[in-house]
Amino acid sequence: QCELFVESVGYRYSGGHVAVSDLSLKLGPGILGLLGPNGAGKSTLMRILATLARPTSGKVTWNGADIAADPNPLRAALGYLPQDFGVYAALSAREFLAFLAAVKGLAGAAARERVDDCLSLVGLNDAADRRLGEFSGGMRQRVGIAQALLNDPALLIVDEPTVGLDPEERMRFRHLLTDLAGRRLVILSTHIVSDVEASATALAVMSGGRLRFHGTPEQLLAQA
Ligand code: ADP
Ligand code: ADP
Repeated sequence: QCELFVESVGYRYSGGHVAVSDLSLKLGPGILGLLGPNGAGKSTLMRILATLARPTSGKVTWNGADIAADPNPLRAALGYLPQDFGVYAALSAREFLAFLAAVKGLAGAAARERVDDCLSLVGLNDAADRRLGEFSGGMRQRVGIAQALLNDPALLIVDEPTVGLDPEERMRFRHLLTDLAGRRLVILSTHIVSDVEASATALAVMSGGRLRFHGTPEQLLAQA
């Protein structure tokens, strides 16, 4: 089950800047492309959905329950690739994922199996034992997706995952996300329309902290 309702959410930074205003969204399985220029409020919204920031107004419910009352059901279902995701250059991909699996409470043979599964989901089996310091930007982003998949999340949030990737890596990334969608809710933020126009089942467009559009890609094209 993955029903995520954002109800009149607002977010004001402590300095007073309002990054998100009265934003409502009803989301279910599929890929949501969250579009908007830099500064639109996308990262702030995604950090709220990842329970890393608490909305200053409104609420978020996951499968009917308010996450302010208990963020744990959402956290247990969440895979998150933050915009500033960093890897340990000295570790191999396998070692790094094993470390993160341990942090998430996975241990022993089950953890090793899950790490291998996630490496193959993102197509990194052959590079599993190479040091992350030797990886390309695209490969590092795939490590980022692999760590977000460790707990087989029903909700996968990826923030600007294609920044710094070349066109071929970007295309690979789009295919990977399509493969992963299935019965999950995937939320992908980007300021590049071509990242999501073919793969997204729904688009949301933000600017100035507000939701300007929510609908199918076809509806957006018809409106443009
Ligand atoms: P996006 O991800 O769409 O680029 P952000 O959510 O990062 O947008 O930022 C939305 C707005 O909030 C921007 O105007 C940004 O400058 C501001 N902002 C982001 N982080 C902070 C912060 N820590 N303190 C104050 N303002 C912030
Ligand atoms: P701090 O960053 O100082 O911990 P927060 O207000 O971000 O302050 O977090 C306080 C508590 O609320 C923490 O236990 C945090 O895990 C939880 N929390 C943070 N964001 C949310 C959210 N969106 N919904 C529910 N709980 C949250």
